[in-house]
Amino acid sequence: MKALLKFFFGLFVVSGLVLSYFYLPAWISTRRKASRLRQWFTDPAAHPELAIAAGARCGDAPFLLPTDGYIGFGYGDSFRPGHSHQGLDIFGPTDLDATPVVAAFDGYLTRESTWKSAVIIRHPRDPLDPSRQVWTYYTHMADPNGESFILPDFPAGTRELFVPAGTLLGYQGNYSGDPNSPVGIHLHFSIVQSNGSGGYKNELEIANTLDPIPYLGLADVDGVWCCP
Ligand SMILES: [Zn+2]
Repeated sequence: MKALLKFFFGLFVVSGLVLSYFYLPAWISTRRKASRLRQWFTDPAAHPELAIAAGARCGDAPFLLPTDGYIGFGYGDSFRPGHSHQGLDIFGPTDLDATPVVAAFDGYLTRESTWKSAVIIRHPRDPLDPSRQVWTYYTHMADPNGESFILPDFPAGTRELFVPAGTLLGYQGNYSGDPNSPVGIHLHFSIVQSNGSGGYKNELEIANTLDPIPYLGLADVDGVWCCP
């Protein structure tokens, strides 16, 4: 009986250690991110060290930074079990319709006829792998009711319009598709793979996307993405 108790106690301790080995770092990093995001939201002007700047280039990175703000959630971050974030969430320092969003790289802009808050830009040559074509995707540029903050130069239904890197596309918003539960004001920026027949893959699946960090030249300095 005593041996059995000992065995179960041992099992309990070992599984506790194993679980904390795997989950503790992720838990701590999520907590740190949440606390930084709170600091940022409380007073963005007091935390310039957390922010990136729209249109800036980190070193000799091929892409320009697409907006101003704090990169609160990165590529591969998990918000719920089984989910991996397929882009960067960049939280601007201002209210709705004020933080600029710019094209990261020369390309051809499409805004599907049903898109209220998003545009996608085709780049015929991936600068990190010129043998393939990639797309950059920018979303949440509308208010909770879907009132768009995308510039009138890019109305819904726009196809293959050339935009040089740095072109102002619109402003950050909080549109989620559900007027009753908007997201926090931010830009979701992602790099989407081509589908092989001229279009793009479904950007909601991380497997169809690429990590934007090397394209933007960002570095993780003590848990904050910034220009090194
Ligand atoms: Zn996102």
